[in-house]
Amino acid sequence: MSVHAMPFQVGVRDLVGKPGQMREHELDVAFGDRVGEGLAVVAAQEPVTVDVRLESVHEGILASGSASVTADAECSRCLETFRLPVQVDFVELFAYIRAEDSEFQVVDDVIDLEQVVRDAVVLALPFNPVDRPDCAGLDPITGERLAPGTEWSPPEQIDPRWSALRGLLDDDEAAQTRAPEKE
Ligand SMILES: [Zn+2]
Repeated sequence: MSVHAMPFQVGVRDLVGKPGQMREHELDVAFGDRVGEGLAVVAAQEPVTVDVRLESVHEGILASGSASVTADAECSRCLETFRLPVQVDFVELFAYIRAEDSEFQVVDDVIDLEQVVRDAVVLALPFNPVDRPDCAGLDPITGERLAPGTEWSPPEQIDPRWSALRGLLDDDEAAQTRAPEKE
């Protein structure tokens, strides 16, 4: 990938002041720094594909489209790392004149899609990613991965170190069972 200081910028001189004109554009770019700070993040040089439709309107340039990228994720249940494809849609007006309700502007016949795409991707990154929908997580005692789709159940022979915890769990369950009677 070639080094480009502002890879998300698109020249729109041909569209400025020509309402009704439109053009499609594809960008193959990278954010240049890590995006996201949870269990799913997009690496700095991860390829980002942006398909954008640029439409000239009276107020400015309307940019709508989609972006796709792959995040590096860690399963929130079993801690396994996996690749998570992320696809986002966006619509944003780049105004000719700065207005109170518009954050983005056409500057020198150029629009910069970076913040638009970045914001959409950050919103789409899951807080609790799972590597597969039926991931059963880890066995709380052995730390081993459980077979997908299985449900962990406590072994019959309780380790003495666990029996105190078991007592707490039983109390908690009893409390939950009693709770509805209070109402
Ligand atoms: Zn998992």
